[in-house]
Amino acid sequence: MSITVDLSQLKSCSKCPDLCTSRSQVVGWDWVVRDDAITTMACVLRNPGKTEDQRGIPAIGRAGTVMRNILSSVPCSLYITNMVKCYSEDNRPPTATELLNCRGFIDEEIEVVKPGIIVLFGKEAQAMGFKDFSSDRHKIRVDDKGRVWTSTYHPSYAMRVGDQAKGVIGRDVWAALDVYREVHSV
Ligand code: SF4
Repeated sequence: MSITVDLSQLKSCSKCPDLCTSRSQVVGWDWVVRDDAITTMACVLRNPGKTEDQRGIPAIGRAGTVMRNILSSVPCSLYITNMVKCYSEDNRPPTATELLNCRGFIDEEIEVVKPGIIVLFGKEAQAMGFKDFSSDRHKIRVDDKGRVWTSTYHPSYAMRVGDQAKGVIGRDVWAALDVYREVHSV
């Protein structure tokens, strides 16, 4: 399994003027590699928060830790990344233009990493794989490359509303895993 994504232009990217001012650094991706993995699960979140911006690693703040804990027993290697790679002032949501500016990077990551399962956390990430925010949430689809896509709550939402939402995230992830096993007979 390749664990290197070479996006050399990422680290010096200046497509989003506001984010070039607010970021400390461009935040790339992180791997959790598991020896018993049946596939790689790409976990796509929205954008880095303050902790991630300072340390240069995605999903290591409070919400990211919630997600990592929920996924701790999933038999997949985890590829963790964001739709938008730069911290925004006061952690505001990225604009539509910023999402568009950064889209090429996440598309390239998915092509290189070749995950068997792609989990989209939250509204912005969900738009990457599904058309309708309301009716497509928690759905699963299999694309023509056999990749299993699903969308679920963002872990920051689960932090706000409590254990029930964390349970829904877990249920969505394991449902996608079941579909992957069925489609690929593993
Ligand atoms: S958010 Fe993405 S497109 Fe915008 S400056 Fe950062 S790396 Fe570049």
